[in-house]
Amino acid sequence: MNNALEDVSNLRGSNAQAELTERFFRAASDGDVNAIRNTLSFFRSVSIDHRNDHGWTALMLAARNGHKEIVKFLLENGADPSLTTRTGQSVTDIGTFWNQKGVVDTLYKFLKPSSSRLEHVNYFGTNAANRQSYQRKDVQYIESLKTLGSTRYAVFAELELLISTNKSSKPSVLFLSYDQLNAVADKEYDVIYIGKGCLGKNSDDSGIEPDTIAYFAINYRHFPSEEGFPAKEFGGEFSGKGYATRMMMLPVEESGLVAQARSILAWHDRYRFCPTCGSKTKMAESGYKRSCLNSECRSHNGVHNTCFPRIDPVVIVLVVSPDGTKCLLGRQARFPPRMYSCLAGFMEPGESVEDAARREVHEESGVEVGRLEYHSSQPWPFPGQLMIGLVGYAVSEKITVDQEELEDAKWFTRSEVAEALAGGFTKDKGLLVPPKHAIAHQLQKAWVKMSANL
Ligand code: ZN
Ligand code: MG
Repeated sequence: MNNALEDVSNLRGSNAQAELTERFFRAASDGDVNAIRNTLSFFRSVSIDHRNDHGWTALMLAARNGHKEIVKFLLENGADPSLTTRTGQSVTDIGTFWNQKGVVDTLYKFLKPSSSRLEHVNYFGTNAANRQSYQRKDVQYIESLKTLGSTRYAVFAELELLISTNKSSKPSVLFLSYDQLNAVADKEYDVIYIGKGCLGKNSDDSGIEPDTIAYFAINYRHFPSEEGFPAKEFGGEFSGKGYATRMMMLPVEESGLVAQARSILAWHDRYRFCPTCGSKTKMAESGYKRSCLNSECRSHNGVHNTCFPRIDPVVIVLVVSPDGTKCLLGRQARFPPRMYSCLAGFMEPGESVEDAARREVHEESGVEVGRLEYHSSQPWPFPGQLMIGLVGYAVSEKITVDQEELEDAKWFTRSEVAEALAGGFTKDKGLLVPPKHAIAHQLQKAWVKMSANL
C-alpha cells in the first residue's frame, strides 16, 4: 500500500473525508494520475464531481493547470464536463482562458458528438463536410477551390437532383468534376459552396484526412435541354416527379450535403428580390447571403435576417397517453391509405418550442400535453424546414379531430406501432407508419423502445 493510503487509514470520520477530498483536488492540480486513480478506486466516498468552495471540480483544476492526461482519465471515468464554477465558467472556459491547448483539444475530442453514443442523427442530418463558414467571404480562396481537379459539384435543375442511373446500385448523387461542368453548354446556374469533406469515409475514423475534397452545388433555375446539359452522357438523370422520395433513397452520408445544398439553392431560387425595398439582390458570401443592389436600402444597416437563408422550424410530437400504454397518431387526407404519423406544425413567431408543440397537438386532436422531452432534430430540405422532434406526455385522452388539418387521429397501442415499424409499406393490413428516413418513424421507434420493459 502506498503512503497516501496508509496515512489516510489513520484518519477517522469527517476529517478523513475532508482529507481525502483535499488530496484528490491536490492530485488533480499537480497532475498526479496515480493518486487520482488510487483515491477513486479505494475510496468510494470521494465523488469524482466533488466541488470545492468555489464550485471547482478536479476536472477543472486539472484543466486549469494543463494536465490533459488527468482530464482524459476523469472524463473517461464519468466526470461531468457540463458543471460550472460558482461564477459560471465551464471546464472548457477554464482551459481556454488559461490557454491550455492540449486540454481544450482533449475536451473537444471527448465532447464531439458521435452519432452512436450521445445523440440520434436523422437522415439529412449528417454533416459530411466542414462548411468552412469563416472562408466564405474569401473570394480568392473559394474561386481557387472551384477549378481543382479533386473538386466535386452536385447538380440540381429546378431543385431536382442529378442522380446516378447505374442500375446495379442504389441511387446516389452524381458528382461532376470541374472539367465536366466546364464543358457543358448551358451555364445559367447558381453556384454555392458546400464545404470540404471526404464522402464515403467515416470522418470519425482517426487517421483519415477529413477535409480533402471541396464540394460545390449548382442549380439551373430553368431546366436545361439535353444539349445544354447532357445528363445521360454523364450517366445520370434528374430526380424527377416524386423527387422528395428519390432524395430519401441516397446513401445516408450524402443526405446532409443534399439537404444543405437544396435548402440554400431553393432560397436563392425564391428570393431574387429584396424583401425590404423590392430591388434586385445579388448572391454574396459563396451563397450564404444575398445583398440588395439598392445602396439606399435599409437592409444595409443593422440586423436584417432577410439577407440570410431561411430556416422554418416545425415541431413534431409523439404524444404518449396518460397511462403510458398508447401513442397518438394522426393522418392527413393526402397520406397513403392506413398511414398515420406524429402530429406536426410550423412554429409561430414569438413562440417557444414547448408552447408550439402543445398548441399544435391541442388544435389538431384536442389532447392536452404536459411535460415534453426533446428527442432529435432533422433538416428537411423541401424547401427549408427544421423538424424539432419531441416526446410529449398527454394529460388528457379525449380526441376531438380538427377536420381542417387532419382526416383522423387515434390512440395506437405499443404492439400496433411496433408491428407497423417492423412491417414497412408492404404490410397488407393494419397500421402503416412513415419510412425510417422520416423523424416521425424515429420518434415512434424511440417510444416503442422506451417502454419495451413494461
Ligand atoms: Zn433592398
Ligand atoms: Mg398543424
